[in-house]
Amino acid sequence: MGGSKELESFDDLRKVRLADEGFIVITGTNKSAIIHKVNAKCITTDRFNSKVSIDNRKRGSYFWVDSVATGAREFGGKRCKVCKPELRLVLPSTFDG
Ligand SMILES: [Zn+2]
Repeated sequence: MGGSKELESFDDLRKVRLADEGFIVITGTNKSAIIHKVNAKCITTDRFNSKVSIDNRKRGSYFWVDSVATGAREFGGKRCKVCKPELRLVLPSTFDG
């Protein structure tokens, strides 16, 4: 799985959070897109439901992206100051030997 895809339902959100990979970009009509960690506490199911289900995505959408770089390139997203998604995943093994 790579690139980006829109999260169109609560089930989509649940699946990417279970997979625990990538990041979530939240777009809005009058503010810049914000990139969050996929399991960040600042992404609430209540807000997801109100934006996606009730407002029918007219005032903003949720997208899954494979990296912070994709979120910045495709959506002009900025990193969330609360959950602070990393620019690059550095695996612990990188520091071995
Ligand atoms: Zn966040």
